Amino acid sequence: MTPRIYLDHAATTPVRPEVEAFMQPFHRTRFGNASSLHEEGRLAREAIEDARLRVARALGAGGDEVVFTSGGTEADNLALFGVAWSPRAKSRHVVTTTIEHHAVLNTVSALREDGFETRFVPVDRGGRVRFDELEAALRPDTAIVSVMWANNEVGAIQPIAEIGALCRDRGVLFHTDAVQAFGKVAIDFRSLPVDLLSVSAHKIGGPKGAGALVARRSLKLRPMLFGGQHEFGRRAGTENVAAIAGFGCAAESCAREVAEHSAHLASLGRAFVDALRAAVPGVHVHSPDEGVALGIVNVAFEGAAGEAIVLQLDRLGIATSPGSACTSTVENSKPSHVLVAMGVPAHEARGSVRFSFGSENSAGEIPRTVSAVKQAVERLRGVSRVG
Ligand code: PLP
Repeated sequence: MTPRIYLDHAATTPVRPEVEAFMQPFHRTRFGNASSLHEEGRLAREAIEDARLRVARALGAGGDEVVFTSGGTEADNLALFGVAWSPRAKSRHVVTTTIEHHAVLNTVSALREDGFETRFVPVDRGGRVRFDELEAALRPDTAIVSVMWANNEVGAIQPIAEIGALCRDRGVLFHTDAVQAFGKVAIDFRSLPVDLLSVSAHKIGGPKGAGALVARRSLKLRPMLFGGQHEFGRRAGTENVAAIAGFGCAAESCAREVAEHSAHLASLGRAFVDALRAAVPGVHVHSPDEGVALGIVNVAFEGAAGEAIVLQLDRLGIATSPGSACTSTVENSKPSHVLVAMGVPAHEARGSVRFSFGSENSAGEIPRTVSAVKQAVERLRGVSRVG
């Protein structure tokens, strides 16, 4: 049987072998509750504190700045709700961008329903936030600015240090969703003007069900989950010890390999785009160059719907994602908010597919992928012409 080719690493990644082995004991022998006083509990506590140091080191943060969560979504929610609803916060204004992940967009919308004023700053055609508009959006009563580091649909990278410096200058807290950046770009929390940063284990070869919000020590965050005094009183609930331990192991590996991994992704992304352009007419690449270099290649194929292509590719043994949500035909699908924000025409946005590369992909997989794309697109164009 021909092996499948997995090109959906922006959705999730396979667990690294060393992570799987590392997690094994926590299901059976080291299963204790980290709050218990006995040996089983102490061993679980040790595992969590060890993971905390590994994640902190991988991100250039202090151990006491890492709050473990269930993943990136919870980290984003905790950053925004935690700051906005902090007892000392008097500010009622929140700023973000139009291309954030829904974990941020919908949280900001929820804050608006709670009475906050919100501002969604636009981006340019390359998916870069309009700095002048961001600057103009800041007010003396802005509670927090949230701008993602790397976009999950097109890979656009934001100038995080510059945005952070602007926020610091204006005395506004700055959060960045670094879920897609972690492992692909070097992150040094300590030296960045960033107050809060979200990461997720399953995007870096760790398990699902763990993530972290890195938050400056001095920050007063209102928890979203109340209960025991877990996670420095910032997030109550018995810790998912196995997943947290696996996250620590994955974070350490990915920080060690970041230079090598990003070079690998850049070479695959660029080779794929060149091969695709050479083989298939009517291709529009939406990812900016730096997105392609992160291994996130978002492309539209004239006359073929994104989801239909994804389904055809799946049959041909290749896993990808539609660039738009809930699509069935080009006409009915809902165009991606990211592509629309970048000024991509709706019909083109609907035809888009995201290919996202990872460490286990190789250049040898590109020719088969390109020929499958060509076959799928030609078939769909034929069907729509007949129809
Ligand atoms: N933020 C970004 C940029 C993402 O890509 C994702 C996942 O797709 C999330 C947040 C949510 O992370 P999680 O799946 O760990 O909840």
